[in-house]
Amino acid sequence: MENRDAGWEVCATPRGPLRHFCPHLCARRVEDIDLADLRARGLRAILLDLDNTLTTWRGYEMTPALEAWLEQARRDFRLCLVSNQIKGRRVHEIADRLGIPCVHGLGPWGKPGRLIFRRAVALTGLPPEQTAMIGDQMFADICGARRAGLYTILVEPVGKRELFITAGMRKLAGWVERALRKREQWPEDKQ
Ligand SMILES: [Mg+2]
Repeated sequence: MENRDAGWEVCATPRGPLRHFCPHLCARRVEDIDLADLRARGLRAILLDLDNTLTTWRGYEMTPALEAWLEQARRDFRLCLVSNQIKGRRVHEIADRLGIPCVHGLGPWGKPGRLIFRRAVALTGLPPEQTAMIGDQMFADICGARRAGLYTILVEPVGKRELFITAGMRKLAGWVERALRKREQWPEDKQ
């Protein structure tokens, strides 16, 4: 148990077979995440999922609050977009707009495989221990990044529209979350 008083990190090192599915931190939206707190934890790079984390599924638009958060994050951290899009046109377009690098791929070249996280970490030029991953999916974003040795932050999806497979995985993720909560191994939401 760690930092219980802060009320948002019940267990940084969960045990048991479900441990890889447990995020280090939960937040409602990306812009709710305290960047100063991440720096205080020794983190210097942030990998960001795109669909339903920064934008709606297949979307381009971001809220002004998120744009401001990203602007600040770009000053204090090395950033990289990490997406499971096969065709990367939209990923590249958004990455270019933000002025940050990106990686994308599917199957063995996508999340939750370790390869895509290693590629993204290599682009930041910092070690995995100093890197956080922010995403809306327990299996693709959290499990994959945890196995790659990253600090993981789970956010709620921006919208309800998504690929039907993703919706199915989210139901399964709900079951895993309830099981982890029962064991008091799920981080409390600070907000
Ligand atoms: Mg996503």
